[in-house]
Amino acid sequence: MAIAIYPGSFDPITYGHIDIARRARKLFSKLVIAVVANPHKNPLFTLEERVLLTQEALRESGLNGIEVTSYDGLLVECARAHGAGAIVRGLRANSDFEYEFQMALANRDLAPEFESVFFMTAGNYSFLASSMVKEVASYGGNVSNFVPSSVEKALRSKLGPK
Ligand code: ADP
Repeated sequence: MAIAIYPGSFDPITYGHIDIARRARKLFSKLVIAVVANPHKNPLFTLEERVLLTQEALRESGLNGIEVTSYDGLLVECARAHGAGAIVRGLRANSDFEYEFQMALANRDLAPEFESVFFMTAGNYSFLASSMVKEVASYGGNVSNFVPSSVEKALRSKLGPK
């Protein structure tokens, strides 16, 4: 079975991302989560923090056999470097489709050897986004249903009262 790469901002990783990783892990012999260095989104966590939190969250969730790396630049270069044949992304709702469609076609144009593969989220995570989690945490709300406890702790120390 092929190696797949799952790219994203992971700012921070949520149970939604973990759900997609778990589904992808069933289909591919190896999954590499690739945390993008400079997303346009002005991340809350540094690249190093996002990589570490992703590793901890996977450990907490009992997900083995997933490598976590980071990249800066073109995803297809990172995919090539890891010998991946597929790019994994998650779909929540219709609203994700347009962007994902555009990215998949751009990546295909850049590197036709990769196939983009999309996994549907679990229904109960269809509303879950890192941005929403950060907003709830910034107001002191409970995010324990959305992220593993290591991530919850990191959010509290980043956003909690000083
Ligand atoms: P990006 O900035 O590349 O969109 P994200 O970390 O926000 O990075 O998302 C990475 C991938 O994970 C995207 O394909 C996104 O649609 C998917 N994803 C994020 N949250 C969820 C969720 N709750 N359920 C399913 N997929 C999700």
